[in-house]
Amino acid sequence: MPDTVYAQDAPKPAPAPRHDMPERADVVVVGGGLTGLSAALHLARVGRRCVLLETGELGGGASGRNGGQLHPGQRRDQVWLTQRLGEAVADSLWELGSEAVALVHALRVELGADCDWRPGVIEAAHSPSAFDDARAYADHLHERYGVPPRILDRVALAEAIGSRRYVGGTYDDVGGHLNPLALVTALAGAAEAAGAQLFETTLAERVDVAAKGVRVSARRRGASAHVIAADAVLLAGNGTLSGLEPRVATRVLPLVNHIAATLPLDASPIPGGEAVADTRAVIRYFRVDSQNRLVFGGGESYGPPPTDAAAVGAIVRPYLAEVYPGLADVPFASAWSGTLGITRTRCPLIRRLEPGLYAAVGYSGQGVGLATFAGKVIADAIAGDTARLDVFEHLPVPPYPGGARFLGPLATLAMTWFALRDRLSLPTLPGRART
Ligand SMILES: Cc1cc2nc3c(=O)[nH]c(=O)nc-3n(C[C@H](O)[C@H](O)[C@H](O)COP(=O)(O)OP(=O)(O)OC[C@H]3O[C@@H](n4cnc5c(N)ncnc54)[C@H](O)[C@@H]3O)c2cc1C
Repeated sequence: MPDTVYAQDAPKPAPAPRHDMPERADVVVVGGGLTGLSAALHLARVGRRCVLLETGELGGGASGRNGGQLHPGQRRDQVWLTQRLGEAVADSLWELGSEAVALVHALRVELGADCDWRPGVIEAAHSPSAFDDARAYADHLHERYGVPPRILDRVALAEAIGSRRYVGGTYDDVGGHLNPLALVTALAGAAEAAGAQLFETTLAERVDVAAKGVRVSARRRGASAHVIAADAVLLAGNGTLSGLEPRVATRVLPLVNHIAATLPLDASPIPGGEAVADTRAVIRYFRVDSQNRLVFGGGESYGPPPTDAAAVGAIVRPYLAEVYPGLADVPFASAWSGTLGITRTRCPLIRRLEPGLYAAVGYSGQGVGLATFAGKVIADAIAGDTARLDVFEHLPVPPYPGGARFLGPLATLAMTWFALRDRLSLPTLPGRART
């Protein structure tokens, strides 16, 4: 897999070498991304013996390879959430979305990890109807939650993002962007320091839940299988958990998304330094990082990600050229892919599946804040405070029709359908949602 610019800039997190996995833990966490590492950190801090199993490298999933955009709120908008779940639950979910952003900032400060943070997120509307929708939603957020509406008309948006491709947009200064691998590294170091045991190259092969507790069968690369008994297990494998648990496998569709980063530019096209995400279903999202590189995400696929940077760059380039025609031939420092976990409703599955078995997966493209937060929410629930988990459990996450077997054809069909809707400038989903 091609390296990200994040990994080129700084060493990846490396857990202390360990030779023996324990026979017993309080909690086993499967997956070493933002969800799993945040859970491990918060569990270790309240004295729980926590073992984290990561089949590859810590942060090697979506968490260390994403676009680094920290969006406030939930993945589905408040209007949709209110219609589906009522005002009280929707308002609680709004609160939790705010807490998620606050947690990322609190951790950055506490762990001394600046993570190249830059404030500001702009949502760019690709069609007049998407802009109408964005304005109406800004009014709703203002009336209900007191969020100051900041509308950018066509001219103001073009000046803010250096592209005339969009109709208008909205600006938000609560969100922003950062280097996601730096956040992973900070969390991993803090989790280990607090006493969590982190094992890379270790696959969780099987999870058995019984009245007496949980047994996780794990295999370190090149070693024989080893069973860990625990009181609880958290499935934090997001889009790559595959067949370990059918209730997750039938609800989370793995989709591959692609990013390219340019070499440092002489002049940034985004003078205010904000992150930008557009309203298309096959989203374009971009930002200029602290080294003046344009980090541009665009294009989706299903199945194994491309194995070389040139192939990924060739996928992303037409999307970048459409937004920035003047940069159509810009050289890339690197291009890479990552696997998202997408649910049918685009709501994350953050749940206790049964006593002792928890899942936090399926952030559907908005996990920098929510995954970090979900790890803490599950840790709190395991420690006895289920208040926030109870709210997340209201989110509807039905299985895909046909179950796990049909995810491949369904993904291809869905991508074609959404690309067609984009070309026709039709709304993406009822109830705005970003990827
Ligand atoms: C290209 C891309 C761009 C994105 N951009 C943004 C963005 O700008 N803003 C935003 O908010 N979100 C974005 N996202 C989404 C965000 O990155 C994810 O929602 C978030 O990182 C999920 O974190 P996680 O820890 O749950 O999963 P991951 O980071 O995917 O980690 C899961 C880990 O579990 C491991 N694993 C799976 N199964 C097993 C097993 N059986 N045993 C052991 N280990 C296992 C995997 O190897 C993986 O490392 C993006 C995602 C992608 C792919």
